[in-house]
Amino acid sequence: MAKLTVSDLDLKGKKVLMRVDFNVPIKDGVIGNDNRIVAALPTIKYVSEHGGKAILLSHLGRIKKEDDKPGLSMRPVAERLSNLLNKPVTFVPTTEGSQLEDAIDGLSDGDVLVMENTRYEDVKNGEYVKRESGNDPELGKYWASLGDVFVNDAFGTAHRSHASNVGIASNMGQTAAGFLMEKEIKFIGGAVDNPEHPFVAILGGAKVSDKIGVIDNLLAKADKILIGGGMTYTFYAAKGMKIGNSLVEKDKIDLAKEILDKAGDKLVLPTDSVVAEKFDNDAAHKTVDGDIPDGYMALDIGPKSVAEFEDVLKSAKTVVWNGPMGVFEMSNYAEGTLEIGKFLGTLTEAKTIVGGGDSTAAVQQLGVADKLSHISTGGGASLEYLEGKTLPGIAAISDK
Ligand code: ADP
Ligand code: MG
Repeated sequence: MAKLTVSDLDLKGKKVLMRVDFNVPIKDGVIGNDNRIVAALPTIKYVSEHGGKAILLSHLGRIKKEDDKPGLSMRPVAERLSNLLNKPVTFVPTTEGSQLEDAIDGLSDGDVLVMENTRYEDVKNGEYVKRESGNDPELGKYWASLGDVFVNDAFGTAHRSHASNVGIASNMGQTAAGFLMEKEIKFIGGAVDNPEHPFVAILGGAKVSDKIGVIDNLLAKADKILIGGGMTYTFYAAKGMKIGNSLVEKDKIDLAKEILDKAGDKLVLPTDSVVAEKFDNDAAHKTVDGDIPDGYMALDIGPKSVAEFEDVLKSAKTVVWNGPMGVFEMSNYAEGTLEIGKFLGTLTEAKTIVGGGDSTAAVQQLGVADKLSHISTGGGASLEYLEGKTLPGIAAISDK
């Protein structure tokens, strides 16, 4: 069933609690990259322009002791937000009590307030009590009492049950998705639940063990699964092929055999690889067919595999990509990931979706991200979504 979204709500004069993802890199009070703040602007502006009083909550980093707090204050984030919105933003340096409540009472329609880091609640009087991260029921209830409606736009934490997402939602009459969350549900949720066929998944990255859940879930749904990256060579080992010094998970070889048997020709492995003498961009390297020679490790898929993958992808209507095809961080082994990314950019008739932390970094770094339909904003959350798991943060959003 479709989820309620912020555009379904009557916001005028309402105190709108909003869970956003302001978990930006920050060092000595300086924000490294404000992509996440920028990404949250459409929903914040929408609420403000429709007369809502926006009360923003987010976590920032991890807080395990009192000393962690000063370096992870939300104050610089509130200042950056104010610059980006080009209007004043009220910052409240606490997560509960009369200072917060009075500031909220003082808001006018369209105002924006940023509360202190929700994870300040994880440490109380020097003790690591995890009130936020452990979804303390009293905390969710208290925060919910501060607003009239709740908008959750933080997909990156949707796979966790925290007080600031699930806790608030379970104490609030209506919870709506923000625009970012709505897009994640539409693309990733849509691909997993109701994909347009042919549906092709591209799975790569380092380890089979990280991706078992995704492989299992997508085997049941996709028409083809293209395998690349380091996990390829555990599958090679399962087929009795030589793998040289390539990455392998010995304890997953039997599992890889089972997957190969179950998948039949649905699962497509690379037929050639770029192999190197060392895990080093400057190491001697070459392209080989099939078996990986002794003394070499495979660090990328080869050009023949790229062509074969493109042949499968060209008719696809839905493509989900998780996991780079090679060690894209090194330029000599980035070609496979780059070529697949560029090719996906030409598939104008298909929904092309990228999920996973390193996969997202790869398509951004290689400059192919803006040609694709959807680049997920949540690494762990997108992985669990692709595994077919129910994400508690999304489950807690009201149905339309
Ligand atoms: P994601 O975060 O998108 O889910 P993963 O974390 O599973 O992706 O995998 C990303 C990592 O896999 C990258 O750091 C990349 O260097 C590594 N990788 C890809 N191919 C290989 C390979 N052939 N050998 C070793 N590591 C690889
Ligand atoms: Mg990763």
